[in-house]
Amino acid sequence: MQLLRTIGKKLSGLGNHLLPTQCLLCGATLKGELLCDGCLYDLPWVQRYEHRCQQCALALESAGNFCGHCLHQPPAFSRSIIPLAYQHPLTPLIHRFKYRGKLTHGKLLGQLLAQHISDCATHADWKIPDLLIPTPMHWTRRWQRGFNQAEILGQYLASTTGIPLATQIIRRLHRTPAQKELTRSERQKNLRKAFTISANAQQKIIGKRIALIDDVVTTTATMRELSQLLIKAGAKDVQVWALARTMEK
Ligand SMILES: [Zn+2]
Ligand SMILES: [Zn+2]
Repeated sequence: MQLLRTIGKKLSGLGNHLLPTQCLLCGATLKGELLCDGCLYDLPWVQRYEHRCQQCALALESAGNFCGHCLHQPPAFSRSIIPLAYQHPLTPLIHRFKYRGKLTHGKLLGQLLAQHISDCATHADWKIPDLLIPTPMHWTRRWQRGFNQAEILGQYLASTTGIPLATQIIRRLHRTPAQKELTRSERQKNLRKAFTISANAQQKIIGKRIALIDDVVTTTATMRELSQLLIKAGAKDVQVWALARTMEK
């Protein structure tokens, strides 16, 4: 598997082993790594949930293939590859990256996601995407923050997998208000027409397998909207690749 070999080679070259580093969670002195083995073990890995939805990765209370939402309203994306639950002690790492601009934390999060993708690439049913598309951020928000965290994770994945990153395919037309207080159908309505595919970009996605990249998946409303847009525009398959997922409904 060429992809796997490429990722393996890139990951083994990570970190400058000449310079000591500190574990980003406990402060232990390390030889180039960004997390010690103990803190790595303590992360909320989704594999510890016995039952998960095959499509959106939500934890299920009992054995089954899909959650109620995916059963009744199947999303346009075919699967989600998400290594971690959005819980302590991962939450502060994501917050320091997103809201305080700590790019070393972004590098660690990119490494964790890339490692998980390389593990998934060993599965027989794995289909390598042709294109990585980060969830677009409205330009005003990006300007305020100075970066789009999904794009940074995407750059990291592109450099480790060799799959091209496309940041100009989808545009976010308006900022969506906070989704937290809304019902599921209000959220989906809120996102309608929030995104558009650039006119000259459509031919780049026809017949292509696409992985949508984000840091955290909460309600899946955004991923549902984006995947539907891409499939309608001619994409062959859309997967979701994200670092973390809220595991409770
Ligand atoms: Zn540690
Ligand atoms: Zn589901």
